[in-house]
Order: sequence, then structure tokens, then C-alpha cells
Amino acid sequence: MDLATPPSLRALLDLCATYMAPVDLDLVRAAHEVAARAHAGALRVSGEPFIEHPLAVATILAELAMDAQGIAAALLHDTVEDTSYTLGEAEQRFGAAIAAIVDGVTKFNVVELGPAPDGHAPPDRDQRAHLQKETVRKLLLAMLRDPRVVLLKLADRLHNLRTLGSMSPAQRQAKARETLEIYAPLADRIGLQVFKSELEDLAFLYLQPDEFARVDRRLRDLELARHDWSVRIATQVTAGLAAAGITAAVNWRLKRPYRAHLETGATGMRESQIHDIIAFRVLVDSPPECYRALGVIHARWRPMDLRIRDYIATPKINGYRSLHTSVYADDDRIAQFHIRTHDMHRWVQHGVAAHWLDLAARRESVAAAARPAVRDLPVWVAQLDHWHRDLSLTADEFVDTLKSDIFDDQVFVFTPAGDLIDLPAGSTALDFAYRIHTALGEHFSAALVQTRGPDGLPLARRVTTAYQLKTGDVVTIVSDPAVRPAEEWLGFLRTRNAREKVARQLRARAQAAAAEAPADGPADGQRAANTTSDSLGPLLHPSGRRALARLARCCYPCPDDRAAALAGPGRAVTIHRTCCRTLAATVARRRRLGHAERSMAVDWRALGPMTYRMAVSVHGEDHAGLMHQLATCAGYSGINLAGSTARAIRDRNKAIVTLICEFGPEDEPESFFRRLRATPGVSVVRRDTNIGCQSSTTLE
Ligand code: MN
Repeated sequence: MDLATPPSLRALLDLCATYMAPVDLDLVRAAHEVAARAHAGALRVSGEPFIEHPLAVATILAELAMDAQGIAAALLHDTVEDTSYTLGEAEQRFGAAIAAIVDGVTKFNVVELGPAPDGHAPPDRDQRAHLQKETVRKLLLAMLRDPRVVLLKLADRLHNLRTLGSMSPAQRQAKARETLEIYAPLADRIGLQVFKSELEDLAFLYLQPDEFARVDRRLRDLELARHDWSVRIATQVTAGLAAAGITAAVNWRLKRPYRAHLETGATGMRESQIHDIIAFRVLVDSPPECYRALGVIHARWRPMDLRIRDYIATPKINGYRSLHTSVYADDDRIAQFHIRTHDMHRWVQHGVAAHWLDLAARRESVAAAARPAVRDLPVWVAQLDHWHRDLSLTADEFVDTLKSDIFDDQVFVFTPAGDLIDLPAGSTALDFAYRIHTALGEHFSAALVQTRGPDGLPLARRVTTAYQLKTGDVVTIVSDPAVRPAEEWLGFLRTRNAREKVARQLRARAQAAAAEAPADGPADGQRAANTTSDSLGPLLHPSGRRALARLARCCYPCPDDRAAALAGPGRAVTIHRTCCRTLAATVARRRRLGHAERSMAVDWRALGPMTYRMAVSVHGEDHAGLMHQLATCAGYSGINLAGSTARAIRDRNKAIVTLICEFGPEDEPESFFRRLRATPGVSVVRRDTNIGCQSSTTLE
């Protein structure tokens, strides 16, 4: 590192080096270089070079062990809005994922509140309410897309608040109020307590400087006055737990000024009367030890029985887990204890960001970290749902938000147990039933759908097969063993998988009916005629026997492709796509050898459900983690990868990966593609139909 490296950059790189691979550090350096050039000459209101702001934001995130893409995006976050640097340039240089994070943060700034810089009046109440909802909508969307956008936005806001001193009083007030209304609740919702506390206290400081100073002083005085007592209690607990064979770290925290201010304001109490001004933290190794520790504490001091809370068995909505108890401790002073494991404590402090911290702690490749996975989506949606209630957005607005741009081709609905099911838009309750279990679909009689009315209150409806699901619906299927799939169901089904199951059932039933007919007397010959007249009879080998079909491995045919079958020895036939090079070559060779047989037409419906392989082409950023990320995504999605090849295009910093994916009859490739596309660094995902195809010969 040369001497010209500014200290703040050196500090950031040192911090990143504790958990990043060298190649990731290069990315951070490159992003800093671009940002420093773009902001060159610009100064903050405080007079320091502007680049110090993105550097500080990146450092806040590096303290959370944010991955390299997130740090790079933090360094670039103000370039697009404030300089001539464009999103296109960012995408070309750093890839789609980083550009998307920068874009997300830029979009917030457009709707930020605050007095207009040219001295116009600040927005009135209606405008404020409107802008606030707009901000929340964007936060919701960004969060679903990539949580890193929101973490970056929170870090940005945190640093702005820390350095708000040089702004005008009106600007400070506006930023502070907005922080209390939107950003601190958001930090709380995603469990990022470290951000929440600091945001709240800074906002409190700017809004009511005198009151802040008074409360802060009072709390420190109280802590000082109770210091000896606190040490004694902590020592006694530590010793008591050790005697019971529990290794625990015991310390205490002082209540934060804003929280104390809220509590005294709401109850009229004085600070000294708040029972958890000082709360003792007991950190142990395992959940069972939490309960044993609770027992040890209760054995020593009498608990206030109304103050025992088990947030381990029933965590708070933001994921907070702990046991809480208050006891009459020495001197009859009340002591509150928060008991949790070290793991739980990390989540209490850092919420969703603990994802990256955990990876860093395990020294796993942070490049491969991905965002908290798609599998976490239900949790996110649940958290956002509550958040929207706190902010009193109407249900319509919330659902609109979920429905808009990114997800307009999908609906998200819930099982009664709260599991999130994603289906193509237009899916019906019947599709849902088939997705949960084939038997539920086959015996579908009705569904109970819980939606929200305009008043935000739950509204339950009993619906039939035709009901089209809406995002947010909670669906309970009512089944009846007497019900059987009917022809008209095919008209209500949107998912192919369900349609195929119904078609199969109808066929099987028709065949069974035909087989039972002889009971009424028709001759054997007629029965045979009946079954073979079925246009969807099984594929036959030229020998006349039922064919044993397999799918060719040269062109990866998939159901519904235009396909042809080649007969092999015995009953074997191999199915190729009609464009397949091997198919054409084999047919030509057989013709030369004088074989009469041609290839046979294939009707996929006659083949029944089968497992097939599809070649999928993925374009992404060329870093070592990409392949690992794709494999991880496949793993979560339950998709088997039969093979893969990767080709790096060095000069463009891109890679093309071809995955050979194995799909079962139940799988929906399109929903797997969507998951792949949601993987950081991935730009394009599509089926590769060129593989094995004649027309592509010249390309290779
Ligand atoms: Mn900024």
C-alpha cells in the first residue's frame, strides 16, 4: 500500500482483510478508486472530502462483515446520484448485482424527506405522509430483492446522522424525525439492534437536545450509583452458575436514553423507577443451559412472577430470543436478567446481518455468501407484514407493494402453518392443492381462503376450484375422498404439473372404465379395441411391444419439445429433439445400411411423468464463488445437478456456466430459474437449446 492511501481507506481495507479473500479486497480497492475519482473535488458540508462519507458507510458495513459486493456498493452508493458516473458504467465495471444495490439506494434518495435545499417550505403533512409511504414501499421492494440494499441504506442514514452537526436546524429535524418514523423501526424489524439503538438516540439528540442531555446524564448517574451493587450481582450469578456446572459470561447493559425517555414519558415514572435501567445479560452455550441458568437464578432470588418471559420458545417477530426474568435481588432491589446463548446474542445485536458475521466467523468464503437465501423469504414477509401494520399502511398498499414489478408474474400465498408457497400468477386454489400434495388436489372439494379486507381485518371465504389466488392469501384446502378429478378442472389449472396429473387421472379412469366394461358382456376383442383406440396409447417399439423409453444425453430433450424416438435393441427407444445432430446422423447411417425404420413421432403425454435433464445457461460475474452459489441454490431448490461446465470471459469479467439440471415431474424449471436469477452476480438464466442441435454445429 502506498503512502498516498488515506487513513480511512487503510482502516477499511484492514477491517475487510480480517474476513475477505484477497480477490475480494481487490474489488473493494477498485470500487474505492472509481468512487474517489467520481467524487474528486467534492466536499461534504463539514468541509472534508466527500469520499470520506462512502468510506465511512462501507466501514460501518464492514463491521458487520458485509460481503465484498456489499462493501463495493457502499463505496459507490452516491456516485450515480451525485456525479456523472452512470449506472450503466457501474454495471459494466462491477456487474449487475453491485449495480442493482447502488440503484436501489439511489432510488430511496429520490423520495427522501426534508426541506427543499433552495429554501422552499418543507413538505406539508399530506405530502409527508405520501412520501413516507412511498419510502416504505421502496424499502419493502428493495428488501425482497436484496437485503443488502436496506442494510446499506441504514448504514448511510446512520453516518448521515452521526455527522448531522453541520446541517441547518430544519434539515436536522427533518432527518431525525424521518429516522424515528421509518429507519429505526425498520432496523428493529430486521433485528439490527445495534443500528436501531444508535439511530434512535441520535434522532432524539437532534430533536430534543436538552432532554437528551438530561436523560443521558441521569442514566449515567444511576449506573454509577448502582455500580457496586451491579458488580456484586454479576459476581454472585457467575459463581452460582459455575457451581451448577454452567460456564456463563455475565455483564450488564444500561438502558438507552431514547428508550428511557419513551418509558418515563408513557408512564410518568422517574428514570430511577424504571426497573430495567440496568439489565444483566447472561450468555451461555446452549438453549438447555438458558433454562438451567434461569432455575439457578430463581433458586437464589425470588422472581416477580409476572415478569418471566420465554422468548426462546416464542421468539419475537424480529427473531429476538431470550429468557427474561426480574428478581428481588440483594437489598431488595429488582434485578432484570436476559438469558440467552452466544449465538442468540449475535442475532439480537445484528439480526439479518448475523448471516454474514456467521460466515466470517466460520471463515467461509464470503464471496459465496449470497444474500440470506430465498428460503428465508417467509420470515422476511412476515416481518414486513407487521412493520406495515405499525406504520398503518392500508392492506391494499402493502399487497400492491408485494405485487408490483418484480413479482407480477408470481403470487405468494401461505399454508395455514405459515409456509410460503409461490405459484405463477393466475394460479387457482386447485393449483395450490396439487402443489401441496397430489392427493389434496385429487380430492379437492373447496378451499378456505383468508385474505384481508380493506379495513385490514382478516376475511375468510369459502371458494371453489376457480378462485384465483392473491398474494397474501392463507389457503386451507377442504378435501373429500368422494371427489375425483373432472374434465373441466383442466380449464382452471395454471400449473403444468397439476394439469398433467389431472390428465393422467382422467386417462387412467377412462382405461379402468373400459376394462370394467366386460362385466356387462362385451367380448374380449372389443375391450382390446377400446384401449388401443385411445390416441394416447403407450409408445410402441417397432417389435410391437411397449417401448422402454429413455431420453438421449446428446441433446437433452424435455417434455413438450418437438421430439423423435429411435428404436434400439429389445424394447429400447431413445428420444431425441428433432433438431438433434446425433439423431440426424443415426438416421442417415441406418438408411445407408438399408434399415427400413425411420424415427418415430413422440407424444409426450403418452410417456407419462419422467425425470429429464435440461441444459441451462447462466451468465454471471466471474468469481470463484459463482459455481458454488449456483450449486447452493440448486441444493436449496432440491434440484440435482448432473453436470456443469464453466467458461470465463476474462476481459469482460464475466462467466458463462452451463448446468445440466435434473428435473422431476414435480419440478417447475421456471421457478428454479427465478431463484437462480435472484443469486447475486447472476445476470442471465435461460435454457440452452443449442446443445446437441444441428443448427449450432457451425458455432462450435
Ligand atoms: Mn450517502
